[in-house]
Parts: sequence; C-alpha cells; structure tokens
Amino acid sequence: MTDQIPKGSDEADLRTRMLLVCRQMNASGINQGTSGNLSARIGPKSLLITPSGLPYESLTEDGLALLEFDGQWIGPSRPSSEWRIHRDILAARSEVGAVLHAHSTHCTALACLGLGIPAFHYMVAVAGGQDIRCAPYATFGTQSLSDHALAALDGRKACLLANHGLLALGATPEKALALAIEVETLAQMYILARGLGEPTILDAAEMERVLALFRTYGTPDFPDAELRQKAPSSRVIHR
Ligand code: 13P
Ligand code: ZN
Repeated sequence: MTDQIPKGSDEADLRTRMLLVCRQMNASGINQGTSGNLSARIGPKSLLITPSGLPYESLTEDGLALLEFDGQWIGPSRPSSEWRIHRDILAARSEVGAVLHAHSTHCTALACLGLGIPAFHYMVAVAGGQDIRCAPYATFGTQSLSDHALAALDGRKACLLANHGLLALGATPEKALALAIEVETLAQMYILARGLGEPTILDAAEMERVLALFRTYGTPDFPDAELRQKAPSSRVIHR
C-alpha cells in the first residue's frame, strides 16, 4: 500500500481526478479492457500512473502507483508497462502535466497502416501543429517505443503509435482526455473521408493561420473587429 495520503491534499485530489478520467476513457469509448494508461506529474521527478494489466472498473485511488523518474515506485501493484513513455514525456516537456495512452479504434486503424493524420480538417491544429504524426513501431513497454514517441511528439500534443494506438498530452488529465477524444474523432472523420475519395489537404499557410487563431480561440482576445460587446445590463432575460 502507499503511505497514508492526507484527505484533501493535492495528491489525494489528483488521484481522485485521475480515477475519474480513467473511467471517462472507458465510458467515452476511447479505451477498453486493460489497454491504455494515464499518468500525471506529482513532483519535479515523480508521477502518478495507472497500474499494469488491471481494468479501470476495479481501480481505486490507492491503486495508482507513485513512480520516480529513476524507476523506483510505491503502490499496491506494478506501474504501467509504458512507464518509460510517461516518464520521458514528463521529463522532456515541462508544459505537460499529464499523459494519456489508449488503443482507440480509429487512431489505431490508421496507425496499423503507419498513417498519421494530415491537415484534412483544420481541427488537426488542436494537436499543436500541421499534422498528427505516426511514430514507427516498437514493442510495447520498450525504451525504443518511448524514443519514437518522443520524436513524433516534437512540437505536438498528440501522436499515433504504429500498430498500437494513440498518445495525448495535456496540462491536466482532463485536458489530455479531451484531446484524446478530439484526435479519435478526427481519425474517424479522416477514415470516412478517405472511404469517399481523396480528401483535400489544407496547405501550410492556412494551417499557420488556424494555429495562430487557436492561440486565442475561446477567449476575449480572439480577433474579430465586427463583434463589439454591449453592456450586460442592456438585455434582461425573463424566465
Ligand atoms: P499497461 O496495462 O501495462 O498499462 O499496458 C497497456 C498498454 O496499452 C500497453 O501499451
Ligand atoms: Zn498500449
């Protein structure tokens, strides 16, 4: 068992949120069985990570392992076999707070052909760049797979893993989950579009415009000179 974790502490709160995200991975359909894993940064050189080979239905907060970057761990069961991927991403990318891995159906189907997701839709920019790459195949749990993944994630928040699945990064577990669902949806759209013909790929200049817009999308700073906010008191909604 892990040491006593005080109720209401940052670690207890993070464990609760991770468990919720694990359940949402399954409920959203992006994950199944004992596939997939989730981690979140807990200290400068440590992370919380899902256990290896255990389905999330039976997972509890205490079941998450506390893992140090050098491989030492504490917990009731062994950390995910993909701990190197999680450790290496968190070590290399200070802006990342959580790493999610799943064998989501449509991402995995593309990855089985060694295909990434090109700019067939502007939302591909959600992963941070012009496309979503597919990392070359290596056996699960190996340092080679982690090395390939880190390279494919250069300048990106998501990538596919050949003949395997998907990786999505976020500042928080919730953001990593939202991105994973977005990328799985894009993969499904791309497969559907390819089934109808050859999708048009947006050019680099257009994707640069979209990437620039994404920096303020959903905030008051989003550029639109024709929109001017009126005083909130100018309209009353009667219920
Ligand atoms: P773990 O159960 O060890 O996390 O492995 C699942 C997986 O997806 C391996 O790539
Ligand atoms: Zn996997």
